[in-house]
Amino acid sequence: MTNKVLGCYYMDDCIFCRIINGEIPSYTIYQDEKTLAFLDINPNTRGHTLVIPKKHAKNIIDMEDTDVEALFRTVKKVVSSMKVSLDLDGLNLVVNQGEVAGQVIHHFHCHIIPRYVDDGINYSSKGYSSSTEELEELAGKISVNI
Ligand code: 5GP
Ligand code: ZN
Repeated sequence: MTNKVLGCYYMDDCIFCRIINGEIPSYTIYQDEKTLAFLDINPNTRGHTLVIPKKHAKNIIDMEDTDVEALFRTVKKVVSSMKVSLDLDGLNLVVNQGEVAGQVIHHFHCHIIPRYVDDGINYSSKGYSSSTEELEELAGKISVNI
């Protein structure tokens, strides 16, 4: 069920909506009117942070453009802060969409995963190769019409 509280739509049974509403505690990194950034409770690496829209949406397609813009502005703010506060060597920005992609919480979130030399994480698996014909066909198919 969707409710309207303090100007933000939320789902009663959504963990991240409950974090936004303060019903579940979290370690807040940053928040503004439209977004919240907080530490992942089960981090992949030290400092693993999640950035979410305050208005519930299960994926980027369901989000208003202004909320997408606000979210990635917050991602940039957190990344900038991490660059000076953590001794990181790089980072991954990850969004899992759909269960096949590993999405467990159905409230859009962008993972900011600080990377450290020898942290043992490997995101580089390549499971598919395309012929040049297929690349051409795909470029035509996916091509965005504005
Ligand atoms: P997903 O697999 O859906 O992309 O990622 C969900 C993330 O949410 C996981 O990395 C998980 O550790 C994190 N998470 C799940 N429940 C909680 C919670 O109650 N608090 C916090 N801070 N993170 C959570
Ligand atoms: Zn939610």
